[in-house]
Amino acid sequence: RRKSGEAYPERLRIRAVRDASGAVARYVSVFRDLSDVERLKQSLLDDAYQDALTGLPNRHLFQDRLGVALRRVRQEGGILGVVCLDLDRFKSVNDSLGHVAGDIALTEAAARLARLLRQGDTLSRFDGDSFFMMLTGLRDPEDAAHVAGRVLACLAEPLEIQGREVHIGASLGITIAPADGGEPADLMRNAEMAMYRSKEAGRNNFSFFTEELGSRVLKGLQMENDLRKALSRGEFLLHYQPRVDVLSGKVAGMEALVRWAGADGRLVPPAEFIPLAEEAGLISRLGSWVIEEACRQTRQWAGEGLGGLRVSVNFSPRQFEHPGLADHVAEILARTGLAPEFFEVEVTESVFIKGFEQAREALLKLTALGVSVALDDFGTGYSSLAYLKRLPISTLKIDKSFVAGLPQDKDDAAIVTSIVSIANTLSLEVVAEGVETEAQLEFLRSLGCCGGFQGYLFSRPVPAHEFAALVARGGVAKARACRP
Ligand code: C2E
Ligand code: MG
Ligand code: MG
Repeated sequence: RRKSGEAYPERLRIRAVRDASGAVARYVSVFRDLSDVERLKQSLLDDAYQDALTGLPNRHLFQDRLGVALRRVRQEGGILGVVCLDLDRFKSVNDSLGHVAGDIALTEAAARLARLLRQGDTLSRFDGDSFFMMLTGLRDPEDAAHVAGRVLACLAEPLEIQGREVHIGASLGITIAPADGGEPADLMRNAEMAMYRSKEAGRNNFSFFTEELGSRVLKGLQMENDLRKALSRGEFLLHYQPRVDVLSGKVAGMEALVRWAGADGRLVPPAEFIPLAEEAGLISRLGSWVIEEACRQTRQWAGEGLGGLRVSVNFSPRQFEHPGLADHVAEILARTGLAPEFFEVEVTESVFIKGFEQAREALLKLTALGVSVALDDFGTGYSSLAYLKRLPISTLKIDKSFVAGLPQDKDDAAIVTSIVSIANTLSLEVVAEGVETEAQLEFLRSLGCCGGFQGYLFSRPVPAHEFAALVARGGVAKARACRP
């Protein structure tokens, strides 16, 4: 301490001075005040912009970039997300496996997170196991929630450290500028508060700084988490809706429609989870399961004497983003032993809007196998006749919204009449969806509609065993010509 009592760092060296007999006569002490050196060291550390362990930007650089990005938001508009991320079980890794293992965990987590970032985003490690992310180019707060979902997913995969599988997971807090604040310090504090709320809520999830927004988005994420598990737990099943020949009233095939038997016993309809599965990148796995199950079941029915039935499977546009889709289908057909002519792919026009060439190529490959292609919900999209010419489509499915008004609604009647006439001219088969009444069916017959219909008039989509019973009974329309 100085005379004033103030503490300061010094380097002190003390030496003993001995007399002729060797006894210690006195001590010489030399010291140096290290205050300046320490100050310099600290400022060098402060100036350095990198986290030594992970190589990520540190707190200073993060704050700096956040400030710049906020100025831009103020000038040009738009929104910005700040995410605070804390690893959930880092401390126990450190304590049980040691610091080297802890460092590996941090480095690996950082590398995974860095892979999720888009251009313009910043990932930073502050201290210990806390990270911050700055997300730019968001359209709305939900975008930040999607990133958070991906962060959780990527950290949910176990890490391999020194030959062991280590599970860490993370808790996230999100705040949105300018709604939640305009200064870097405020936003970072908000994000941190939201992160603590996630920890309290049971870890491995995320919270928004705004309560109301948080709960809404959280529900979606909860469902996304459940969906992930549902795939591995086999909670999906297929219902089958007969496709009936308009003229003969015989069952010619069926459409496979996926259902999710959730934990609460409710059968969740596809409209509630397919969009989520698409967003979460799960649709390919789910789609593969549907294809396989539909093929397996149809093949089994053929073996049991219910032969000649063609199964239609709905494909999401996302499935066409994989270049190997046609080969994948071929492989499933071969494995399950279903002949390709008993398999039909249902696509909507949205497939062609994003990647026309890629989708066209996949459909050509599929038809080369012997699989047929139906254009679903026809009439609701662009209903482009160019598609019909340039694509290997064999069936048009008239959307149920046009069937609903038949036969009274003049517009519906006109639309359905034109679709049937186009189809006849181009030698395409027509299937009318959502036929609920005898009068609707009568109208279709009167058009000489060569093809099929689906709808509650004949049967709702039913579980596999009910479908088999339905067909075995002869499957003549009158048998179930009742409203549900
Ligand atoms: P979609 O392919 O157009 O299927 C027809 C929908 O109409 C089905 O709804 C069916 O239950 C319903 N429907 C059938 N007959 C009638 C009727 O007479 N009246 C009325 N009001 N509705 C009828 P669902 O099963 O809820 O499926 C909805 C959509 O979810 C499907 O529309 C399809 O786009 C999608 N979907 C279903 N399964 C799958 C799947 O495995 N993969 C993908 N990617 N999408 C699927
Ligand atoms: Mg369909
Ligand atoms: Mg449809």
